[in-house]
Parts: sequence; C-alpha cells; structure tokens
Amino acid sequence: MITRQELAWYGRKIEARGLTAGAGGNISAREGRLIWVKPSGYSMGELTGRAMCCIDLQSGEMLEGPARPTSELPLHLAIYRLRPDVQAVFHTHSPWAGGVISSGADIRPMFAEVVNDLGDIAHVPYITPGSCELAEAVAAAAQQHGTIFMSNHGVVALGITMKQAFYRCCVAEDAAKSFLAATLVGRPQFLTDAQVAELQRLDSAAYRTKVAEGGR
Ligand code: 13P
Ligand code: ZN
Repeated sequence: MITRQELAWYGRKIEARGLTAGAGGNISAREGRLIWVKPSGYSMGELTGRAMCCIDLQSGEMLEGPARPTSELPLHLAIYRLRPDVQAVFHTHSPWAGGVISSGADIRPMFAEVVNDLGDIAHVPYITPGSCELAEAVAAAAQQHGTIFMSNHGVVALGITMKQAFYRCCVAEDAAKSFLAATLVGRPQFLTDAQVAELQRLDSAAYRTKVAEGGR
C-alpha cells in the first residue's frame, strides 16, 4: 500500500481504539528521503492519504500538504535523522497510559508482550509539547529505546514498520489498564528480572519476522 494511505489507515485505527482524542497525537512514516506526517490540528480519525503533509527529511521543508504539519514535527525529524532503521513514529495521548505514566507509579512489565513489544521503555519528564527541547530529549531517548513515555503528555512509539509502532501504542495502553486492574483488586505482581531476561532471550525470531513484515 502507498505509504501515505497506510499511515492514514493507522491513524484512523488509533482513534477507533481510543488511543487518542481530538487533535491529540501525531503520526509519521518514512518514504525514502521524505516523511509523511499528520497536519497540525487534525484528528487521527479524519486522516486520509491526501490529508497528509510531505516533508523533506534533510531540510525539514514541507513539499505538499493541506495545512501546516504537526507541531511535533521537530520530534519526528530528530528521531528519523538519528535512527535510520526507524520507518514510523506514532505519538498518542492515550488516556490510560498517559495517566499511569504521569502518576510516578512504578510500571514494570507484568506480561510477556510488554517485554516483547515495548522493549526497554524510556521515561522523559514533562517538557512543553512542540518544543525543540522536547524533540531533543525524546530523540536522545530514542537512540536506545523503542517506546518513550512522556510525563504529563503521552506515548511515543517507534517502528521498523508502521505495524510495530501501532502494536507498541496498543500494548502500552493495555499494560496501563492491566496495571490499574491489578492495583484495584490487589497489588500488581510484576515479572521478576530473571523472567524478563528469559523473555528477552526467547524473543522469538518468528515474532520479529511478523512485525518486520509490516503491512495490514
Ligand atoms: P498537532 O495537532 O500539532 O499534531 O499536536 C498534537 C500533539 O499531540 C502535540 O503534542
Ligand atoms: Zn502530544
């Protein structure tokens, strides 16, 4: 599928799953020397291939688009410039994950998919949305991490495919819901360091291949 259309399709899925509301969040995908990004102020649910902005990755210039690009363009550009392997960057204002991220709670993995899908999670303190300072902090974290939690803001998920970035957004939100469920009825039992290490060793080739295939 054409990159801009696939990106819009994932945007609509993100909104349909309640991972962001209003104009919150933004998504992008790389296509050679270009990136496609959400226009600022658009909701994910109204995205179409034609509604996406096209940006020259090197210069940051907008080549095409119906409105100005997302206010988080500096964040997206900084990640793509530092991580040539990254093909997609999805940022959501997920309600459950956002709340847990901003609580100061210790959110270690409770399930295998948190280890397999999210990998090591980076935490970035609150920095003004859309600022170059936020872009720099998130890009620094993105050098070693695929999932970044931004306090009082939301989630940034990187992907070697759009599918991987999407999975990461979904798993982060479900992990937050499960953490809250466990907290409501008892005390969350996290995986031990040894269990996490074992999962990291097992992290199956089949799983990696599936995500790397991308597509719908
Ligand atoms: P945009 O509508 O400019 O993409 O802003 C949404 C957002 O999430 C800012 O952090
Ligand atoms: Zn945001």
